[in-house]
Amino acid sequence: MKKHNFYAGPSILPEFTKEKTAEAVVNFAGTGLSVMEVSHRSKEFVAVMDEAVALVKELLKVPEGYSVLFLQGGASLQFLMAPYNLMGAKAAYLNTGVWSKKAMKEAKFFGEVVEVASSGDANFNYVPKQFDTPADASYLHYTSNNTIFGTKVDAPEVNIPLIADMSSDIFSRPVDVAKHDLIYAGAQKNLGPSGATLVIVKDEALGKVDRPIPTMLDYRIHIQNESMFNTPSTLPVFACLQTLRWLKEQGGVEAIEKVNIEKAALLYDEIDRNKLFQATAVKEDRSLMNVTFVMTPEFVELEKEFNDFAVSRGMIGLKGHRSVGGFRASIYNAMPVDSVQALVDTMQEFEKMH
Ligand SMILES: *Cc1c(COP(=O)(O)O)cnc(C)c1O
Repeated sequence: MKKHNFYAGPSILPEFTKEKTAEAVVNFAGTGLSVMEVSHRSKEFVAVMDEAVALVKELLKVPEGYSVLFLQGGASLQFLMAPYNLMGAKAAYLNTGVWSKKAMKEAKFFGEVVEVASSGDANFNYVPKQFDTPADASYLHYTSNNTIFGTKVDAPEVNIPLIADMSSDIFSRPVDVAKHDLIYAGAQKNLGPSGATLVIVKDEALGKVDRPIPTMLDYRIHIQNESMFNTPSTLPVFACLQTLRWLKEQGGVEAIEKVNIEKAALLYDEIDRNKLFQATAVKEDRSLMNVTFVMTPEFVELEKEFNDFAVSRGMIGLKGHRSVGGFRASIYNAMPVDSVQALVDTMQEFEKMH
């Protein structure tokens, strides 16, 4: 039976990425060696890193003056590397859920954290739009897609630089990189396997803080060493490159955004129509990547039965995060429209049974 992978992360990858990576695990670039066993300084692997960086720049239209890095430690390490390198006495944070809160917790080690707004009053089912940002804050940090609560956040219009955690929607829609001092994303949602972390940082924003920065946590060291200060995660970076090639082949970020809008509309329309289900996020802030929904109050007792029914149809990973409950269908770039349609069909059939 065909499996439909709705996991939130690690999550679905293009067939192309899996096939090319599988080949390179056995024989990488004609070396007769595995991509896992060649030096990261070999010309073959340096070519992988260079092409991956070039494709990130091309696909996201990264302006001059920015560096693209592939680091390790996940988005969670960026929660502290960002303030370590970029925060003066004060930084502003927009709190739209679990990941924003974790980012704030780390920033508090470095200075004063101002929470400009929070949607915690409604279990993060919406995105605050009106708030004041202190002019003396070094940056405003926001989470562009709330993987757990199923909301998306557009870059806030403020007069200070932005930092964005784009872990779960990078490459899913265009982004104005120039508004940001820093963008980061763990690879395992829309890019590749876990183990690589994409960082896009504005060069001239660095070197302004007074505190000493340990070598491995200093973006400047990684820029100088072209992401090879220490051994990079070679296999994950190789896989990321395959996804970037695939994305370019699909027509790039603008083209995939159209497909993402179509996929999300298909599923949200069914959730809104079907008497058994309701969406958790407010309409105007709904994520294109993580669709969160629950049973309507009169049908709550059917939750487990629906999950079992979906599993019997090959749907994997639909169970919602414990802080929201219900279901979450993660429909990242690599998710085909057919799989979303299969979920919609399953929901319609389940409705007929009740
Ligand atoms: C998954 C996720 C993280 C955590 O990423 P790690 O790579 O596990 O540290 C952080 N932020 C967002 C928005 C995420 O979706």
